[in-house]
Amino acid sequence: MILSFPWWLLKMKNLSPRQRLIVQLVTQKGDLAVAEICQATGISPATAYREIQELTRLGQVAKIPGGIGRVEQAATRCLHCGREVSPRLAFLIERQDGSQQSACCAHCGLLALAEVRSAMTTDYLYGTLLNAATSWYVLASAVSPCCRPSVLSFSDRQDAERFAQGFGGEVLDFSTAQVGVRKLMALSQH
Ligand SMILES: [Zn+2]
Ligand SMILES: [Zn+2]
Repeated sequence: MILSFPWWLLKMKNLSPRQRLIVQLVTQKGDLAVAEICQATGISPATAYREIQELTRLGQVAKIPGGIGRVEQAATRCLHCGREVSPRLAFLIERQDGSQQSACCAHCGLLALAEVRSAMTTDYLYGTLLNAATSWYVLASAVSPCCRPSVLSFSDRQDAERFAQGFGGEVLDFSTAQVGVRKLMALSQH
């Protein structure tokens, strides 16, 4: 089963802490033997087999002889510019009809927003997923890891302001950031 990144992160929300630990371990290591699962979680082999069955059913891990393997994730491309989406900068959009799409960074995410039910962006400092509508954005700083002008996301206004003190750029909320990135794009086309 192919899951496109980063939705599996959201899907992990429904897992128990123990299941989450197993998925994290197998994602890091590539594969896990049943004995390693028992050792890492302190469960019996019988319980480990039950967890493996459940996680396989959920598409979180792949069954391999004697244990489990990582589910291969297809590279996801940005809906706006076509770049490969990295988990470090991903901006996730859920449309009104429930379909889900990813943008490579907040730059493309903010430009692509239309008829959106919800959107999530990645905190540039902590790598956590944030509600895009309540996040803070630093527009056009000197740090430009993806598209230009760069738009970096922060959960905390103070973090964004400190970042802008060091690296320049303008601190904006969701709606002013949407307008701001459009304006800068229009200027750069002249
Ligand atoms: Zn893009
Ligand atoms: Zn980008």
